[in-house]
Amino acid sequence: MSHEGIRFVSAEEAEQNAAMESKKLSPDAVTPAKVRVKKSEGTGMEIDWRDGHKSAWSFFWLRHGCPCATCHEEREASGRPPGEAKPKAATLLPMYEAPIKPLEVSPVGKYALRFKWSDGHESGIYSWEYLRRQCRCEVCKGTA
Ligand SMILES: [Zn+2]
Ligand SMILES: [Zn+2]
Repeated sequence: MSHEGIRFVSAEEAEQNAAMESKKLSPDAVTPAKVRVKKSEGTGMEIDWRDGHKSAWSFFWLRHGCPCATCHEEREASGRPPGEAKPKAATLLPMYEAPIKPLEVSPVGKYALRFKWSDGHESGIYSWEYLRRQCRCEVCKGTA
């Protein structure tokens, strides 16, 4: 029997794919109508989406939710969800740490934002879709 590399999708897989499809966000859900980066206040970012939903994140969350491969893998390895900081070693004396904030926020094409953080990290590309899926509001957290 010759094998041409064709892979047949089982009924189960097809069902899973359909389930994934239904979780697809509408274009309006991942298109920001308004983006407010509260750089001078140092608080965080707010987005009003075209579908009327509003999302907000602290800079702390955004920094620790960095979607770059390094941060993502590091979180996966330690089982932390996006937005959660690395636990600190208990033996360290508590030290004052300047709150993390973006030095620069720049658009990446039409689909994402890039943050340059005060700790020097700048490889994360925050797509609108990623941000919408990581909405912190009660409604979204309840369904995630
Ligand atoms: Zn990162
Ligand atoms: Zn939400």
